[in-house]
Amino acid sequence: MKFADLHLHTQFSDGTFSPTELVEHAVQQQLAVIALTDHDTVEGCPATARACAAVGIEFITGTELTAEFNDTEVHLLGYYLDIQNARLLAEITKFQTVRQQRIYEMVARINEIGVPLDVQSVFAMANCKSPGRPHVARALLKAGLVKHLDDAFDRYLKKGRVAWVPKARMSALESIALIHQAGGLAVMAHPGLNRTDEIIPGLVAAGLDGIECFHTKHSTAMSEHYLEIADKYGLLVTGGSDCHGYSKAKPLIGSVKLPYEQVEKMAARVAARRQTGPGPNGNGHGH
Ligand code: AMP
Ligand code: ZN
Ligand code: FE
Ligand code: FE
Repeated sequence: MKFADLHLHTQFSDGTFSPTELVEHAVQQQLAVIALTDHDTVEGCPATARACAAVGIEFITGTELTAEFNDTEVHLLGYYLDIQNARLLAEITKFQTVRQQRIYEMVARINEIGVPLDVQSVFAMANCKSPGRPHVARALLKAGLVKHLDDAFDRYLKKGRVAWVPKARMSALESIALIHQAGGLAVMAHPGLNRTDEIIPGLVAAGLDGIECFHTKHSTAMSEHYLEIADKYGLLVTGGSDCHGYSKAKPLIGSVKLPYEQVEKMAARVAARRQTGPGPNGNGHGH
């Protein structure tokens, strides 16, 4: 049997693996296919594609966009993206600028309550264009200002805490259109994490292509529930570990195994769309 892990992060966002390290782990896990889904970037895709090609693993370009629908945060995965697409790259640059500004604001708030975290230590820790809360947490840990990464989130970074700063979020409808115009498939990430089933029909109406039924934080019952939803709306079924490298106890890559037939269905949908051109939602391809 061939398996895929379609939700992975590297150092190009808040993962700790380089693309080469990620692919070494994919080999160990005997994965046939991987997709890279770094937050608000596609920058790691070329290096990951090269590392995959060298070891005979199939690679799918991807990203994970933070979006909102009816005031609810939703993460949208984009797959089979044209990573040269000008509009996609322009929007990603905006997200990254906001992420960088948000780091200054988070650190200023931490400083205000007397915790001497140096903002440059966060940027040094991140060393990428898409910095986020995990980098603030790691910088706090390195400076000895917290005992554990979870401690950093619990005390400062999680929603409602002093340094929690909301991210700029594109509307999910715009995110789906953005992914489509870059030739990609739009997939709702880890729906079980925030139990926001009520937004699914609206996303489907906007052209959602798939739903991440299998995820590290989904119970078996949850996965079954989302498989039923996928069936009901004719959505593609995807899955991935959401591995962030060694930021958690052990790497999660390969712990969620998506059967290869689901990848074939995704590829078929992309191929069909490229033949027929833009669909009813203004999707399709182009530059
Ligand atoms: P950001 O995109 O900057 O808001 O950061 C979100 C990332 O932070 C997620 O992808 C997780 O990797 C991580 N994260 C969120 N909440 C926690 C938590 N309570 N403990 C550890 N990591 C977390
Ligand atoms: Zn992350
Ligand atoms: Fe996510
Ligand atoms: Fe993720």
